This record gives sequence, structure tokens and C-alpha cells, in this order.
Amino acid sequence: MKTLKIAIQKSGRLNEKSVELLKNCGLSFENYKSSLISPVSNFPLEILFLRDDDIPEYVQDGIADLGIVGENVIQETQVSVNYLQRLGFGKCSLKIAVPNNSGIDDISQLNGKSIATSYPAILSKFLTQHEIQADIRTISGSVEISPGLGLSDAICDLVSTGGTLKSNGLKPFADVMSSEAVLIGRDELSANDLVIELIQRIQSVLRAKETKYVVLNAPKDQLAQIIALLPGVKSPSVVPLAEAGWVAVHTVIPERDFWDRISQLKQAGAQGIVVMPIEKIIL
Ligand code: ATP
Ligand code: ZN
Repeated sequence: MKTLKIAIQKSGRLNEKSVELLKNCGLSFENYKSSLISPVSNFPLEILFLRDDDIPEYVQDGIADLGIVGENVIQETQVSVNYLQRLGFGKCSLKIAVPNNSGIDDISQLNGKSIATSYPAILSKFLTQHEIQADIRTISGSVEISPGLGLSDAICDLVSTGGTLKSNGLKPFADVMSSEAVLIGRDELSANDLVIELIQRIQSVLRAKETKYVVLNAPKDQLAQIIALLPGVKSPSVVPLAEAGWVAVHTVIPERDFWDRISQLKQAGAQGIVVMPIEKIIL
């Protein structure tokens, strides 16, 4: 079968997580910082290391078959690619922010103002939707310092914790889009066997990440109450303990309601709760 090419960010915020995801999918390759291409030794795939801004176009034009990139970059470059899978990392929001003392507290007050951004296409669409006429100043980096330098009245930039805005005396003001890393592919490739295999591997890794493996001990007479609290993949495994009247229950619990579940289980009589990470869940 023809070797596929997947483009990932060469260095920056998405590089490490992209490499980690592909390695967790069982792919074996060197994360060469100095080379553009790294072959995968145990799957017909080559990894291309690129600047994130180039990835959507490379995929659209068929230079790469697949790519891992932030949704913000895809929207900004306005290319036509298939979204194959959301990846759950690189989460951030594109926000408009204004200086703390600007007196701007309604979006209509952006009329006639200047906004600095590295995302002119997305911002322009947003302003049109809200019928705002503002002057978009496109700059490529350090957008957050531009109001302080008198270069613009506001900014539109990516925010994750908001720390950078705060330290520059800015407050987030309007949400333009939220973004995360996604797997994209060329249109024609959705039915390709290797792509399907890779997506299945990625999904099994993501599923495992959202879930913990839990083993707990419980008195037999509390078992029904404890099982009622467990969602599990199908139903929990129940194993007798050497001590009469006790069992061990093995199950998986979703990360999102993990702590609530654990305290409910304790209240229901669970003891010696052991929690383990899961590598993969194959359905
Ligand atoms: P490159 O050199 O590849 O062009 P870059 O400097 O444009 O890199 P990074 O800062 O490494 O890009 O960010 C890559 C992606 O990480 C962003 O496009 C976005 O999707 C995501 N991201 C997550 N959190 C943030 C954040 N706080 N600020 C910027 N990007 C973020
Ligand atoms: Zn970039």
C-alpha cells in the first residue's frame, strides 16, 4: 500500500503532544528536530515536520495526506480539507481584548477602533457578522503589546489561561472562536484503509485518556449499591477476595466525573480504591 504522509508542527505548542499521540498509537519514529521528514518503521507512514501555518495548504494540495493542526489555523487559511478527528489538546480561544482602562464594555464600541491581530480573516468575518466597522491591523507576533505601544485600541489573539493578557494590562472582551488540535485529511482519503486504521488507533488512545481503571474492595452486601454507581465499559468484573464476605470490583470511570464518583463509592462502603491510567481502549 502507498506510504502516507502526515504533517505535524516542527516545533511549538503542538509538536510535543502530536508526537506523543502518534507514539501512543504504536508508531515508531525519531522526532528529528533537524530534518523535515521522519519515516515510521512499523507503519507505511512518513512524518513531515512543518510550520503550523503551512499544514492546511500542504494537505489541501496533496503534499501531505494528513495533518495535525489547530482549528484556528485552518479557519484562517480558508482551505478545503476534511476534519477527521478532534484531538483534545492545544485548546485555546481566539478573543478580542481591550486595555483594562479603555472604557470599552460593549461590542458596538469597537466601531471605528483599530484591532491588531495575526488572524485577519477570522476577525474580519466576526466583525462583519456583528456589523462592526473596525480597522484590522495584521501583525505576525507579540500582538498583546500593541495597545501599550499605541499601535491599536484592541487586540484579537489566542488565549489559553489569560496570563499574557493580564500581564499586559488587557482584559478579554469577546469570544471570536474556540479551537483545539484536529486531524485533517485530503478529501479523497476518507475511505483509505490506512487512514481508517490510524483514526481507530487515535480514537482508542483518546478514549483511554478520558478514562481511569479502578479496582476497589467492597463488602458483598454493599455490592448492588456500588455497582449502581459504576458506568463501566459493559458491566464491572467482580472477583471474590480471600476474606469471606468481600469482593474486588474492577471497572473504568470517565475522568470528567471521577472525583464525584470516588466519593460516592467511598460513602457506599468501597475501600482500598486503586486508580490506574489506561493505555488504550479498543471497542
Ligand atoms: P510555527 O512556528 O509552527 O508557525 P506558531 O508560533 O505559529 O508556530 P504556536 O505558538 O506554537 O504557533 O501555537 C501553535 C498552536 O497552538 C496555535 O495555532 C493554537 O492552535 C494552539 N494554542 C494553544 N494554546 C495557545 C496559546 N495560549 N497561544 C497560542 N496558541 C495556542
Ligand atoms: Zn504559525
